[in-house]
Amino acid sequence: MTYDDNNIFAKILRGELPTKKIYEDEYALAFPDISPQAPVHVLVIPKGKYISATDFGAKASPTEITGFYRALSHVAKLLNVEASGYRIICNAGPDSQQMVPHFHAHILGGRKMGHILAPKD
Ligand code: 5GP
Repeated sequence: MTYDDNNIFAKILRGELPTKKIYEDEYALAFPDISPQAPVHVLVIPKGKYISATDFGAKASPTEITGFYRALSHVAKLLNVEASGYRIICNAGPDSQQMVPHFHAHILGGRKMGHILAPKD
């Protein structure tokens, strides 16, 4: 699978679609999810062109990986959810229902969440 330059997050990174920047540095951009699933729901994306967590882990440089993870934990601090708790979700591939093929982490918080996954149906 090749990276799709026309995915929504690529367009946000290029400034072609508007978003409210919560945090930005050399490695990452954080912005609110358009369809929040919790009082706090923010997406953190790397600046590089990576499709999924697997792709990022395999191809990103150690500097990019460290930079991204530091940004992720910094954003959790900015969002003020450290004490109450939060969840980081990275969907990858069809079973996870990943919709946007640019690697991203969801930070969710501000309410009590179920443990790990919704029940099986
Ligand atoms: P995924 O299912 O790929 O892990 O999550 C993609 C997320 O991107 C979804 O939670 C969805 O609400 C969010 N999203 C989709 N389009 C946009 C958009 O144009 N702007 C923002 N801020 N979020 C989006």
